[in-house]
Amino acid sequence: MTRKKLIAGNWKMNGSLEANQALVRDLLAGLPQAGSRADAACCVPAPYLAQVQQLTQGSALALGAQDVSVHAAGAYTGEVSAPMLREFGARYAIVGHSERRQYHGETDAQVADKAKAALAAGITPIVCVGETLAERESGQTEAVVKRQLAAVIHVNGHCISEIVVAYEPVWAIGTGKTATPEQAQQVHAVLRAQLHAASSRDDRVRILYGGSMNAANAASLLAQPDIDGGLIGGASLKAADFLQIIAAASAAAA
Ligand code: PEP
Repeated sequence: MTRKKLIAGNWKMNGSLEANQALVRDLLAGLPQAGSRADAACCVPAPYLAQVQQLTQGSALALGAQDVSVHAAGAYTGEVSAPMLREFGARYAIVGHSERRQYHGETDAQVADKAKAALAAGITPIVCVGETLAERESGQTEAVVKRQLAAVIHVNGHCISEIVVAYEPVWAIGTGKTATPEQAQQVHAVLRAQLHAASSRDDRVRILYGGSMNAANAASLLAQPDIDGGLIGGASLKAADFLQIIAAASAAAA
């Protein structure tokens, strides 16, 4: 099965009403030229969901959130539930981003529950996995990403084919250091095999690469057989760069 590539932007905690309007306007203007053989999405800070929902309505740019609560409703001050995200048109929700694991102590089990909460509301979780530099240097990369994905498979086994996975080596996020296409492909192949062992419908699952992907290196990463798209941080805030990555994904599918 050929999987349609997905390029998802992670705006992180960036933006303003004014900046978002200009960014989305430029993205929508450039999308037709970038090509339609890849899916595109932007995962925005929760307060801007309504704004970006309105700006992107009826367009090919899908909307996503950057996190989701494990709970559907209740006394959980500060949390945002999956049904709420759904009301604002979120098609995707990033779960288990390394910044949330690192700064908010999210565990593998919580990430798995977040994926479950998203799925229950009809939102596709983009499940992030990835090793730190210390883990890579001590030869633990495979064990770490497999452990992280195993937790998600354990909780969501029956509908695992509905998720998106993002391999994001922590040492490559926001650092300008990108995994080489070979390094990324090697880990993607491991994740693909793990999904295959868990589900007969694993070929539906897209595995994105994330970590300093940009306009210059996207094509070589996206040419790898098991790299089905990208999760883009910094470069998703510049319309021209993000559009070039989408164009590279569309060209890779040609
Ligand atoms: C990310 O935040 O998911 C990410 C990959 O960031 P960057 O592209 O800036 O490395």
